[in-house]
Amino acid sequence: MTLLIHATLIDGTGRDPVPDSWLRIEDGHITSIGTGAAHRGDADVIDCAGRTVLPGLIDAHAHLGATDYLDRLTSGSRPEYAATVFAESSSTLRHGYTTIRDAGYTDAGFARAIANGMVAGPRLLVSNGPLSQTGGHSDLRRGHDRQPAVMFDGLVWTGVVADGVEQVRWAAREVLRAGAHQVKVMASGGCASHGDEVTDTQFTREELTAIVQEAGARGRHVLAHAYNPEAIANAVHAGVRSIEHGNLLDEESAALMAAQGTFLVPTIATFQLLSVDGREMGMSREQVDQIDTVLASAYTSLRIALDAGVRIGSGSDVLGRHQPRKALELELQARVTGTLEAIRSATSVNAEIVGRGHDLGAVRPGFVADLLIVDGDPAEDITVLQDPNAIHAVLQAGRITVERRPERTS
Ligand code: ZN
Ligand code: ZN
Repeated sequence: MTLLIHATLIDGTGRDPVPDSWLRIEDGHITSIGTGAAHRGDADVIDCAGRTVLPGLIDAHAHLGATDYLDRLTSGSRPEYAATVFAESSSTLRHGYTTIRDAGYTDAGFARAIANGMVAGPRLLVSNGPLSQTGGHSDLRRGHDRQPAVMFDGLVWTGVVADGVEQVRWAAREVLRAGAHQVKVMASGGCASHGDEVTDTQFTREELTAIVQEAGARGRHVLAHAYNPEAIANAVHAGVRSIEHGNLLDEESAALMAAQGTFLVPTIATFQLLSVDGREMGMSREQVDQIDTVLASAYTSLRIALDAGVRIGSGSDVLGRHQPRKALELELQARVTGTLEAIRSATSVNAEIVGRGHDLGAVRPGFVADLLIVDGDPAEDITVLQDPNAIHAVLQAGRITVERRPERTS
């Protein structure tokens, strides 16, 4: 049994922080919460000394396996690639993330290595290869390339390219067979791809519906990359759980999402970061121009979605050198939603998106004790969550797995 005392509690539900809180943890779960003096019994006591305790962060749209800009993923040394992904996974945990919904390219083997305790890292929920139509957002071939799209080299997935209802059924079954926790589809063009535009729709409604059916048959959900209103409507009608990015969303598509209970997962951080150094990372000028356009509209679409009553999750979508910048998303979303709502999106709402609303993402009795102990007050200054040195400790299922070392004195 563990007892945390003298904590300022942000419970992840949007409630105001509660000072001088305590919480009791047994068998990996939070069993009771209160304020003031706590009965210590034989518990191991952790004195938080006024620090903030909040649920471990959840990133609903990350690419842990995107150790580089996508075009360069399948080249280079495979052992070094694997080592980099494992290093990113432990770094992500040290940055306060205890759950990641991986939106593509990362193989389920990485998730198993973490889940089995071989490597430190967050609970990793992978999509394996994103499903894409020929010439779609994750068909990474250039126009001159006549080779079939590479799918999986044993370590990193590219897109699984499929066309027509029969082929997409096969593709969904294939990524699920290989251990995907959810299925990722590309329902519109994107910024980082070569042969398409963000205004394109990709896959037909029939294809998307077949993919949702295949995932549903195994109790899994589908997340859809989609920018424009037509693509969003296609994916929502097909029954996907979340729209990723959604930067060109309008009032009509927002109303449709609200009516169907479809979540929006904005990913503003990656646009902000690529706008600054996308060129250096290998993107063309046209791609970076595209990024700048959708960065500006990201804030507008988030406001429209919020006003329409769409439930807002949180994703970073960071690639390569931006992997340590996941928590920037909370700061950027907070500009529109406010701080406590941005934290709620990255904890309890994201838990609902990954199908764990009943036991993850909030500090509540019966919930898994995935917790952060943070120096400073994220409700006042959300940027503290971007500083790993402000993360005093990370608990996974009640066990301290990251603890800041006392500063050396010399
Ligand atoms: Zn995307
Ligand atoms: Zn992505």
